[in-house]
Order: sequence, then structure tokens, then C-alpha cells
Amino acid sequence: MDLSNSKIGLLTRTGNRATLPGLVNAHSHAFQRVIRGRTEYRTTNDKDSFWTWREMMYSAAARLTAEDIYDASRMAFLEMALSGITAVGEFHYLNHAPDGSPYDDPNLLAKQVVRAANDVGLRIALLRVAYARAGFEAEPNPRQARFIESDAERFLENVTQLRKDLAAEKAMAWVGVAPHSVRAVPLAYLKQIIAFADNEGLPVHMHVAEQAAEVSACINEYGRSPVALLSTEGLLSERFTAVHAIHVTPKVVRMLADARANVCACPTTERNLGDGIVPIDGYFKEGVRVSLGTDSQVQIDLLEDARELEYHLRLQKMQRAVLAEGVDAKSALAARLFECATVNGGKSINGAAATDETDEPADFFTVDLNDPSLAGAGEDDLLAHIVFSLSKTAVKDVVVGGKRIVEDGHHAQQEEIVERFKALQKKLWG
Ligand SMILES: [Zn+2]
Repeated sequence: MDLSNSKIGLLTRTGNRATLPGLVNAHSHAFQRVIRGRTEYRTTNDKDSFWTWREMMYSAAARLTAEDIYDASRMAFLEMALSGITAVGEFHYLNHAPDGSPYDDPNLLAKQVVRAANDVGLRIALLRVAYARAGFEAEPNPRQARFIESDAERFLENVTQLRKDLAAEKAMAWVGVAPHSVRAVPLAYLKQIIAFADNEGLPVHMHVAEQAAEVSACINEYGRSPVALLSTEGLLSERFTAVHAIHVTPKVVRMLADARANVCACPTTERNLGDGIVPIDGYFKEGVRVSLGTDSQVQIDLLEDARELEYHLRLQKMQRAVLAEGVDAKSALAARLFECATVNGGKSINGAAATDETDEPADFFTVDLNDPSLAGAGEDDLLAHIVFSLSKTAVKDVVVGGKRIVEDGHHAQQEEIVERFKALQKKLWG
């Protein structure tokens, strides 16, 4: 099969292969790959939660050198490539040396992550994080020293320089701004950087309402919930993506819809951290575009994230096909979920998601229809087989910008990347 001549639609089928547009992972923290499997126990006699997990994540983040970040990121991006992901939005907040002092190049670590993605062959939106404080009336947390840029001007200078440097290198990369959360970025700072992004037409990503405690702290500080604050201050737009957006009311969902803002759900991480269930039915009803992210990298399987959107609601409501639109088309539900994993992600990170409308070189992947997870799929239910049941072993070729980065389920640098990552894990954990 000559992949360069394939027509890229939602799905084409030739012989024992189906071709699909590349998956877009809209929310990733690549370095968190190093804590996979190492936080699955209790650390306190009280309840373990997102907040106890976060302390463990911070302790790993504090120990990574620039080269370690490259190795950890390449491992995460390799796994993404092998699963059909062709572009990633990296929510990048490791900016400084472990003691909090800036590197000579304040974008050194961001560039390590970009280099890792491009070396693997992925497109990357480097969503550079602004992080000013531990929280409203909170004491500084020394474990956040690597993230902090307390000054909006300095942050914007660094963003501007990173854009110039990546353009000069002709990297397969672009820059967005990512105010970490309403907890970490006070309102004046937030307004300044979103005004900059609006002027420059950059994507804006922000963690919003992941935890109930974040919502109550915001109400304490501003008398409004995070989304109400963003909405009333005019900070939402169609370039804005609210990551998680779990603890929301129907009124808040409408605010996001009215502003044509996006939501990025990360269900495999959200279930791992006990965050809660994203009310996707409400977002779909109001026409909010929903994309997907692998976030903490506990699993890297965007189609698993896609099916969890539906499955979490089935468990909650004790119903089936909750997100299906009508009763006619058998693949309509799968198509809606697949759209979250592709086109919507591309719109959120402002990348070149492969669609029929774009002149950009195609990004796509193929799956083996003889893989045990897909065997026997019919014409009408093939997409439902792929969205609900595909094992990653079925992914065979992955092509980004016309270049084949995965061939017959294998990446050319796979062994070297894995060996270096194993050495890093040994150094970190013994
Ligand atoms: Zn995140």
C-alpha cells in the first residue's frame, strides 16, 4: 500500500489495513512518565488524593537534569507515536534548575522537550506555563521552585524568545501560553498574559476546576468560581482550552459554550487521581468542543481516553450509549468520540491536524484489521471496533508530515530510547 497516495478521510479501508487521521494529544506532562507505577500506594493514614500524589510528583520533578528531561520526554513521545498520536500539546512547567535559579537560557528545558518530540517525529505545541505562587494566601512551597516566574513581563520575554528560537531552528513546533491555574496565577498576571496571547493569536491552555478545593479557594479569593472569573473578566475565547473542567455547574458549562472555549478531558488520569467525572454530556449538549489528553502518562492510549468519556457516564448513570446523538447511525457515537481524539485536539493546540480541508502534509496512522482486537469488524461498525476495542498492537504505520515515523509497529530509535529511559529510572529510583 502506497501511503503517500492515500486519501485521508475519517477512515479509509484497503485490504487488511484501515487508515485514520493522526491522533492529537492536547494535554501532556511528558516528564511525569518517570512516576508511572510508583505512586499506586497509600502515603497517609488519612485519604490519599490528588494532593498527596502531587507531592510525590514534585519530589521526582525536583531531581531531573536537563538531559533526564530529554530522556523521559522521548520515552513518553515514543509511546505516543506507537499508539497513533502525531501531535502533542505539552503543558510545560519545568523552567529552572532544581534550586530555582534560572538557566543561562531560560528556555533550556522547554527546548529539551521540543527536541525530544521532534527527534521522535511528533509535532509539538509547547504550552509554556506561567506559575507565580503556591496559591491564595499560601506559603511558598520549595518544591515548586523550578516552576516559579513571579513576574509577567519576564514570563512574556521568555515566551517571545522561545518563539523566535523555535522559528529560527525550523522546529516542528510552535508556542502557546499556559497560565497554570487560578490558584497559581493571580488575576492581574493572568490578564496580562492572556492579552498578549490574544494579540499574537496564540492558544491558551489552563487547568480549570480539576479539584473541588481549587474551586472553593477561587470563590474565597474572588467571590466567583474559576470559570465565572474567567468569563466575567473577558478572558475566555475560542483559543482558550479549559483542561479538566470537572467541577462545574450547568451555568458554567454555558459560559464556556457562549465564549466558544474548548475543554480538554483527561479521563485515564482523572480516574487515576480520583479527580471526578467530566460532564461530557453537558458539554456536548451545549456544543462545547472537547479534546483529550494523556496528562500524567499513567497510560498513553488516547482511544482509551476517548472511550472513558462514555464509560464514566455509563457507570454514573447506569445507562448505555449516553453520548450517542440519535438511534440511527451505528457509528455515530464512535465518530463523536473519535473527533475528540483528532480534529478537536488539533483545534485546541492550533496544530496541523490532518483533515480533508487542510493543505498541510498528512498526519495519519494505519491499523491492522487482522489484529485480534479488530478481527471480524464489518463496514458499518469498523470505527466502533477501533474506538471501543482497539489494542495498541493493531497500530502499524504512523506518518507525520509525509514522513513514516513508525513502520510495522516499530520506531527506528525504539531500543535506544528504552535503554536510556531504563538507565534514568535506575538512577532515580535505584
Ligand atoms: Zn495537567
